[in-house]
Amino acid sequence: MKTEAGMRNLEFLDAELETLKKENRHITLRQLSGPQEPVSIVDGKKVINLTSNNYLALTNDPRVKAAAKDAIDRYGVGTAAVRTIIGTMTIHEELERRLARFKGTEASIVFQSGFSTNVALCQSLMTSERDLLVSDELNHASIIDGARLAKSPRKIYAHKDMKALEKILESPESRQARRRMIVTDGVFSMDGDVAPLPDIMALADRFDAIVMVDDAHASGVMGKNGRGTPDHFGLSDRVQVQIGTLSKAFGAIGGYAASTQAMREYLVSTSRPFLFTSSHPPSVVATCLKVLDILESEPQRIEALWRNTRHFKEGLRKAGFDTGASETPITPVIIGDTEKARKFSARLFEEGVFALAIGFPTVAKGRERLRTIVSSGHTPQDLDEALSKFQKVGKELGLI
Ligand SMILES: *Cc1c(COP(=O)(O)O)cnc(C)c1O
Repeated sequence: MKTEAGMRNLEFLDAELETLKKENRHITLRQLSGPQEPVSIVDGKKVINLTSNNYLALTNDPRVKAAAKDAIDRYGVGTAAVRTIIGTMTIHEELERRLARFKGTEASIVFQSGFSTNVALCQSLMTSERDLLVSDELNHASIIDGARLAKSPRKIYAHKDMKALEKILESPESRQARRRMIVTDGVFSMDGDVAPLPDIMALADRFDAIVMVDDAHASGVMGKNGRGTPDHFGLSDRVQVQIGTLSKAFGAIGGYAASTQAMREYLVSTSRPFLFTSSHPPSVVATCLKVLDILESEPQRIEALWRNTRHFKEGLRKAGFDTGASETPITPVIIGDTEKARKFSARLFEEGVFALAIGFPTVAKGRERLRTIVSSGHTPQDLDEALSKFQKVGKELGLI
């Protein structure tokens, strides 16, 4: 495209876009023309939706929507302020108390997203060259960016490799550090495998390290009533910082850190993503409060999610697909080639099944894949239909 006069210094973007296209990294956006549902209208076509993080099918739940509407009537649409000025309403603090109770911690603090929560914690806790942040190589981008904003050096260990973690912790650099913090996803977002928290805690105790677990994909999914991976492993009272998201199973937007009262007070006064962004609209807060009610009273939703997960995973494996190391509702279908993965995804879409292709550099070369996520709201018929399309297109493309 010709760049308008006056915009000439943006011409470099044309070359950048060309490169992105050549490298298969150019993204175009699909559009939902209705709510996020297990079966949705995407780009005008009705498809079985295996892409969203709407684990418990709550994004369009009538009770949740009613709570959001009621909050708009009572509190308005926004706060027009950061939390530390006049952006804290009574319901913001009520949500933080409820989240702490839910997680079994002293206190919690809510941020605008899971992304900003990770950035906040890494930046606020790792404040000196004398600190050390230790991170799994497959941790989420927001942890990587948080580590970049931290003042401390960082060490990366091979995925879930406890020998490698131990080696870092016993190094002189770690031993001499003022404080050490191990950061790990609870459930890894591309492979759906689970962090070995008991082993990580044992090492952390031995080397006196703080442990921070990012449970974005475990919130509402793992542990009793969806309390997360520390609860799943019986470690809720030992993991010092539990991060959760309100953007996935909770169906709204936001993130939180559940920890001690002192941690909350410290973050309120120091963390930049808390100090310098306006607070959640009341409707979002009310949504999350209602979702907590539902999580605590309807364990059958989580049971349905896991029943669907087992059924779908088993179907894929029986058909001959490689589902990698997944132990959760995130189930990759490993293809090993970006072009083939894209073709697979496009053909499935034509057949009425939406599963996203994920290529390099989001995942390693040779591990290109489709990524599927089932929800509690998929019916057995939805899943069987999707499985039969996977089989049909998989055979057509010579993948199975
Ligand atoms: C999605 C995700 C986040 C970001 O959460 P948002 O609330 O969407 O910003 C953070 N960590 C992990 C592991 C995630 O999968």
